[in-house]
Amino acid sequence: MRPIYFPSQKLGLSGGTTMLCDPPVRSRRRAQNAVRFLVAILIAIFLDGGSAAAEVVGRSPRVLILHPYDEWLPASAIAGANARARLQEATAGKIDLFSEYLDQARFPERAHIDRMARSMADKYVDRRPDVVIALGESATRFIVEHREAIAPDAKIVFGGFGRDSVSKLNLPVGVVGAFSEFDITKTLELASALQPDAENLFIIGGSAAFDRTWLANARRDLADAAKDYETTYLEGLAIDEFAERASRFPADSIVLFLTILADGTGRNFLSKDALAIVAAKASAPIYGPYDTYIGQGVVGGNSVTFESLGNAVAGLALDALAGKPITDIEVPQTFFADARQLKRWDLSESALPAGTALSFKQPDIWQQYRRLVLGIIAVVALQAAVITGLLVERRRRFAAEGESRQRLLELVHMNQSATAGALSASIAHELNQPLGAIRSNAEAAEAILNGKNPDLNLIQQILADIRDDDQRAGDIILRLRGMLKKRGEVDWQEFDLNEVVDSAINILHAEAAKKQVAVSAQQSGRRLPVRADKVHLQQVILNLATNAMDAMVEAATADRKLVLHTTLHGDTKVEMSISDTGRGIPKDRLNSIFDAFYTTKPTGTGLGLSIARSIVETYGGKIWADNRAGGGAVFRFVLPLAQAA
Ligand code: ADP
Repeated sequence: MRPIYFPSQKLGLSGGTTMLCDPPVRSRRRAQNAVRFLVAILIAIFLDGGSAAAEVVGRSPRVLILHPYDEWLPASAIAGANARARLQEATAGKIDLFSEYLDQARFPERAHIDRMARSMADKYVDRRPDVVIALGESATRFIVEHREAIAPDAKIVFGGFGRDSVSKLNLPVGVVGAFSEFDITKTLELASALQPDAENLFIIGGSAAFDRTWLANARRDLADAAKDYETTYLEGLAIDEFAERASRFPADSIVLFLTILADGTGRNFLSKDALAIVAAKASAPIYGPYDTYIGQGVVGGNSVTFESLGNAVAGLALDALAGKPITDIEVPQTFFADARQLKRWDLSESALPAGTALSFKQPDIWQQYRRLVLGIIAVVALQAAVITGLLVERRRRFAAEGESRQRLLELVHMNQSATAGALSASIAHELNQPLGAIRSNAEAAEAILNGKNPDLNLIQQILADIRDDDQRAGDIILRLRGMLKKRGEVDWQEFDLNEVVDSAINILHAEAAKKQVAVSAQQSGRRLPVRADKVHLQQVILNLATNAMDAMVEAATADRKLVLHTTLHGDTKVEMSISDTGRGIPKDRLNSIFDAFYTTKPTGTGLGLSIARSIVETYGGKIWADNRAGGGAVFRFVLPLAQAA
């Protein structure tokens, strides 16, 4: 265990180490400070407005922090700042804090030191400190020597060096310290954990007295551990020689960099700068006992941090102010490592001793992009859910559409059967005509053949008539069969709407004749191609036409006129209208006449118009009803013109 903290001014430690503080450490410290602050507030509340330390006989306690050098030395600056923060927090600000910078590195002369002492004795004549915190060996020596003049009743708390130095200082009883013991074996412990297979151990030290002390201490402390390695001490070299040797380290080497405050040629350095020169050339990982070496090329090490030193001396000062008995304490040591160097030398982070403070750790891809990745996953999941929902919905819609198509087919078939039934009497009557003619012609032919010299030409003509009548009867039966045939699927085809009008008239004309209705067709001269099921559209026309004939029952026979009209409707549609001279439609019924089950007929079903509308809409069309100006109703429907047109 070697005491090395604030190097003595004799060693020319204007080259004090610089503290490097990585963001995680800083934020951790902030968090710790926040916690301490809270604790301080709670203590303040529970102790009725302030801790025991916060008041010394009716006033705020006074603490003087003595810095050995100027305000720019990171070691004492960081320790002092941490001590101040802790004191402020613990007393909820009810404390008078003073700082003095002895500047002993630049002004080591006795006369200066005495002048400083006199000046401070005068300065604090009316505000004698209750506690003096001395950071480093030389500041401790100073206050112990000048205690009577500056702060005769003060308790003295020191920190920043090891127990070995205490004997040299000849401290009076009651002066208490937070000892910073540097343990180079612990730095080696971290190195060997990272490099368990290392064979070589190099220890680098400079030529300044301070460096030589370090080297001597390392030789003593590492004596045991060095037996496990091929150990080489590199000392007394010029900086370039150090760098050159470093470039030839075998890969399986552990390198311990102690301090180089001066090289073999007497050139002075800040240790961290000398380290940076050596580390730049090194062919093996370098470790060191100061956390301020982080960022200069060391992989890691073990050290007492300046922050923890500051906290420790402040803790002692608070106890002293509170009148508690205080004794020497050890400032905790910390393992530290640089993640970038671990990566550079391919060393495993998991091999680091537990609790190692790791600097410059790059967040891994997951940590870096976690929010983004989670966001993307959420969006993708949402999209997947929406797509699944839409697919399910689409499937349901298809199923529902299939279902309703099937229902429509069944309904249309029922409707066709009903129409065929309603027209059956007139169809049978119509069929009777060709059958009767066939019979008469057959009888006539028979009579001719029984006579003398039968006229074969006449017979031939009669047979031709019979064949025509048979054809007519066959056509009627075919149309009837077409209406009655049940189909499981919509028979999509492209056809001329006029053709369907013709076939509907053929089916209807017997019934029209029976009801003494004059049927006429006003067809567009051009083809009106539509894409649909022919039989379905024929059924629409039959429904509208039979309704029209029913509506004209009460009209005078001469006025019963049914007109079927087809035409182009704009460029993309065809229109068909069926008008009659019947009783017309009550105005308030014009919109609801297509509703199912609306009927004014004693034996009506009220389904004809509703089925007609379903069919027209199935093929992308529209149907509506109107009253004609001259009396009677007109039903119109439009359908999309087939693309082939
Ligand atoms: P149904 O013929 O069985 O009554 P529809 O749905 O075909 O069923 O017709 C519904 C009702 O619409 C008919 O009962 C009738 O009152 C009225 N209607 C249909 N067409 C006409 C028309 N051309 N003129 C007057 N009223 C009509």
